[in-house]
Amino acid sequence: MMTKQDLLRQLPSVDSVLSHDIVPDLIDTYSYDVVRDTIRDVMAHIRQQILAETAVDVTSDAIMAQVEEQLQAIFQPTLRPVINATGVIIHTNLGRALLSKSAQRAITEVAGQYNTLEFDLDNGKRGSRLVHASQLLRDLTGADSAIVVNNNASALIMILSALARDHEVVISRGQLVEIGGGFRIPAIMKQSGAYLVEVGTTNRTRVADFADAVTGDTAMFLRVHSSNFKQIGFTEQPSLEELAETAHAHDILAVDDLGSGTLIDTSQFGLDYEPTIQDIVNAGFDLICFSGDKLLGGPQAGIIIGKQAVIDNLKRHPLARALRVDKLTYSALVATLEHYRRDEALTHIPVWQMISQSLNAIHQRAQHWSEQVGGRVLQSESTVGGGSLPGTTMPTHVLALDVSSPDDFMAELRAGSMPVIARVSDGMVLFDPRTVLPEQDDSLIESIQQIIQ
Ligand SMILES: *Cc1c(COP(=O)(O)O)cnc(C)c1O
Repeated sequence: MMTKQDLLRQLPSVDSVLSHDIVPDLIDTYSYDVVRDTIRDVMAHIRQQILAETAVDVTSDAIMAQVEEQLQAIFQPTLRPVINATGVIIHTNLGRALLSKSAQRAITEVAGQYNTLEFDLDNGKRGSRLVHASQLLRDLTGADSAIVVNNNASALIMILSALARDHEVVISRGQLVEIGGGFRIPAIMKQSGAYLVEVGTTNRTRVADFADAVTGDTAMFLRVHSSNFKQIGFTEQPSLEELAETAHAHDILAVDDLGSGTLIDTSQFGLDYEPTIQDIVNAGFDLICFSGDKLLGGPQAGIIIGKQAVIDNLKRHPLARALRVDKLTYSALVATLEHYRRDEALTHIPVWQMISQSLNAIHQRAQHWSEQVGGRVLQSESTVGGGSLPGTTMPTHVLALDVSSPDDFMAELRAGSMPVIARVSDGMVLFDPRTVLPEQDDSLIESIQQIIQ
């Protein structure tokens, strides 16, 4: 039995640990000072463990293993890739929409080279960044004009600040929603200096309620997508057309915060029908705003489309400068919109690939996973997420693992070098192939194997 003193005597010096074989490589990666300081930290900790009579290994190999682990932990970025096996396609906590391959390439191209962000190649003079996604947005939606800002929340703040400050905005009581992350419509109104006029009831609002609320101070009728909840039963909202017509009859604006916003009819995939962006343009709305990274399947952005004169007003507002987007966003957005123009969104944009995947293909992957790691293939449900299509699910097949402690198992999955986020249901850990990229299959299987063996 070795005493504390024996162990302390055996503890190598910092200098001798620094001569370990793997140190030069570590210094290459992390710098001399960082490696030396980390060795000191690890050895101080080992010394304390010896004094507390905890069993420790004092060989240089054991010390360096700890040093390496600590260096990796220190230099691990907080923002890093994970595997999403939850089956929630637009997962707000896991980065929402994944970009298509060509959107990823577009970002890489402009990121490392000078570019035409605000430069007109025809006349060699300064150009406007506002041109970049405009034409595509006009062609795809049928709107006259467009402007892109940082995200949809800022789009709404900009619309209200620029067009309704010190004026009244009429909204249905059924749509005074909180979208998440503390984003509440009444608070946004207040922030923008607009006066909220609520009409109708929680479940039923008619177009006459809107018309009756109009005064000399009314600036707009606002529709807000209910995003993350669903009203069922005895409910009523005015049709898009009658709301727009009534607004125009009173010479005020009809504005729609569409939230997710889709260019593709979702009902063809067995999902609920949602009016598309084009439907709302056709209904005569003056302004429509939606997110770039929900059902559109592009980068984070707030996209505002609508009538020329109204968008021109927004472009002149000081917030247009404050909320503008950068070259990376424009490049990814344009590449994403190009997929729609080429009618290849379903095969090229990850959100739509995941939505339109065949149940058969999903079943085959779950089956393949189960052949490697055991467990059973069960029927389950995936969701679109991101405040799109609330309450709607899509049938799926999952790999279900029966483990003694699902919570511990999930924690081990998250602790891996490529963390896996799964879902627990009925005491089983479920893995939904719908949201796992095919190229991540091997990594997922390896992560599970490491835990179960
Ligand atoms: C998601 C959402 C927003 C916020 O959009 P971000 O792009 O997250 O800023 C605003 N309104 C509605 C209705 C939404 O669904």
